[in-house]
Amino acid sequence: MSQRAATAEASVARPEWTRARRIVVKIGSALLADRETGTLKREWLASLVDDVTELAKQGKDVVLVSSGSIALGRHKLGLPKGPLELEQSQAAAAVGQISLAHAYQELAARSGLTVAQILLTLGDTEQRQRYLNARHTIETLLELRAIPVVNENDTVATAEIKYGDNDRLSARVAGMVSADCLVLLSDIDGLYTAPPNEDPDARHIPLVTEITPEIAAMAGDAGTELSKGGMKTKIEAGRIATAAGTNMVITTGKVLNPLRAISEGCKVTWFLAKQDPVTAKKRWISGQLEPRGTLFVDAGAEKALVAGKSLLVAGVTRVDGAFERGDAVVIRSQDGRELGRGLSAYPKSDAERILGRKSSQIADILGYEGGPELIHRNDMALNRK
Ligand code: GLU
Repeated sequence: MSQRAATAEASVARPEWTRARRIVVKIGSALLADRETGTLKREWLASLVDDVTELAKQGKDVVLVSSGSIALGRHKLGLPKGPLELEQSQAAAAVGQISLAHAYQELAARSGLTVAQILLTLGDTEQRQRYLNARHTIETLLELRAIPVVNENDTVATAEIKYGDNDRLSARVAGMVSADCLVLLSDIDGLYTAPPNEDPDARHIPLVTEITPEIAAMAGDAGTELSKGGMKTKIEAGRIATAAGTNMVITTGKVLNPLRAISEGCKVTWFLAKQDPVTAKKRWISGQLEPRGTLFVDAGAEKALVAGKSLLVAGVTRVDGAFERGDAVVIRSQDGRELGRGLSAYPKSDAERILGRKSSQIADILGYEGGPELIHRNDMALNRK
């Protein structure tokens, strides 16, 4: 393991890093598992957890997306080197995920941090209803100051319904929680004009403000046997993250304390988003989703919305259409003016039963505790006056 990178270019960190309040960090398998022995690189992971502790102390929310289950598990099961069959990867992931989660838990406990394991499938990030559930859990964990450690649920994902690489998964997670920054810790310190191991003239690119076809063509493939994603999936991740308003940074994780190194201005490639996560989400809600229904709200609720509050079931007088939880709906005033749009936290069938009711009655009527908001303010885009 090389020591912390001290590059000639080292300078100060960009404001996109120092100002970030919510950071998702993707950790590649090659950083966590020794290529030869398949054992966990404890010293390295301890240094990463120290960095996360430091960020958490500064009041930042940190979500980790950690690979490594297959790389750790395959060794324990004595599986051969080289590409694995799908079933073998699933078996390896089932074994390795336990070691991985255990290592995070043990190392985080040293500094009093609590970690939480979240295993996601493609559907959890793509289907809005499940997306809301996953997001709710991650948000709750962050409020409780726990560090979510996310991985793909490899043991149940089949080839067709799988990310297969945590680069894109981490970008989806960053969008899901409206993170301001996504860090991809890789075995390479950023994007080059050509793969640097093949082309001695390859130049490092410090900043990408737009993913043009030229940038995409630079990707080549930096994949190794242990890590699924190469530069291609990192650029895909850049597209997903920046479209969601998240800035992304690629840097090497092959040093101890890789996040501290970013603070110290180490060599990286930034992919900058054109808008912040809140604006990006509001545009998505107001412009790209087909509304499935309409909620009519009373004058009190209209006032509350304009004041930046969530839409409570108590303020809704009528619902129309056919929507499920997570679908986009139009919010209208009593006289039919469109006030905005948002994602409904309840399906129409339940919304109808609780509209106009007090928050305290909801659980009794529905038989489950779903919360007082029909649309959370973070899931709403109001029309400008
Ligand atoms: N989810 C896989 C694992 O934990 C890793 C995928 C990747 O390398 O990006 O082994």
